[in-house]
Amino acid sequence: MSGELILIVEDERDLAETLEYNLERAGYRTRVASDGQQALRLSLEEPVPDVVLLDLMLPDISGTEVCRRLRQDERTRKVPVIMVTAKGEEIDRVVGFEVGADDYVIKPYSVRELTLRIKAILRRARADEAPAGSELVFGAVRVDTASHRVWLENHELSLTALEFKLLTTFIMRKGRVQTREVLLNDVWGIHAHVMTRTVDTHVKRLREKLDWAGVYIETLRGVGYRFKEEPELLTKPEP
Ligand code: CA
Repeated sequence: MSGELILIVEDERDLAETLEYNLERAGYRTRVASDGQQALRLSLEEPVPDVVLLDLMLPDISGTEVCRRLRQDERTRKVPVIMVTAKGEEIDRVVGFEVGADDYVIKPYSVRELTLRIKAILRRARADEAPAGSELVFGAVRVDTASHRVWLENHELSLTALEFKLLTTFIMRKGRVQTREVLLNDVWGIHAHVMTRTVDTHVKRLREKLDWAGVYIETLRGVGYRFKEEPELLTKPEP
């Protein structure tokens, strides 16, 4: 069996064993780490995991710190992370997204719910692998990824290389929250915290160039941005 590999990071031994058992039954391969340091070590072993299931409260370093480090390492930068937290406060969610977690579940959760989340995240990760030389269409926006050209309805837009990458990243991850840090990582390829304003500036410019279709990009205050899941507007709204 060659299912995807899940790294389970969980210090509660019973829970770790239950997860291991159930995920293997669901067809996945697993690797288990019981603290943060071990998680970082095991995340770098070949093959690199396809998903990391990361408990927030660990005996040595916190789950958020583990996530931050995974995002800083070239080899694990793109591995989806599902944060597992016992606390459901909004603040934890925001913190999780800021360090680059892709999703979170709140303890106690059902194994069924968890496997559905894992499935969804693996599907999205696959969809993220940009199909080179294909066409992306979202509402009135059409992107030719081979020639790097973009149209709004029948009008061609003039985007910089960076704006182009930002737009394709947004479209490929439509419906998903993109924090400034994640965008900096994936679009600019840098990790500088001080430069998050740069993201805002470029998103603003991209939105202006998209004209009325700029509404496809939503701002989530204090968190980041999200490209709409579905285009509600297909043509320029009547004045
Ligand atoms: Ca724990």
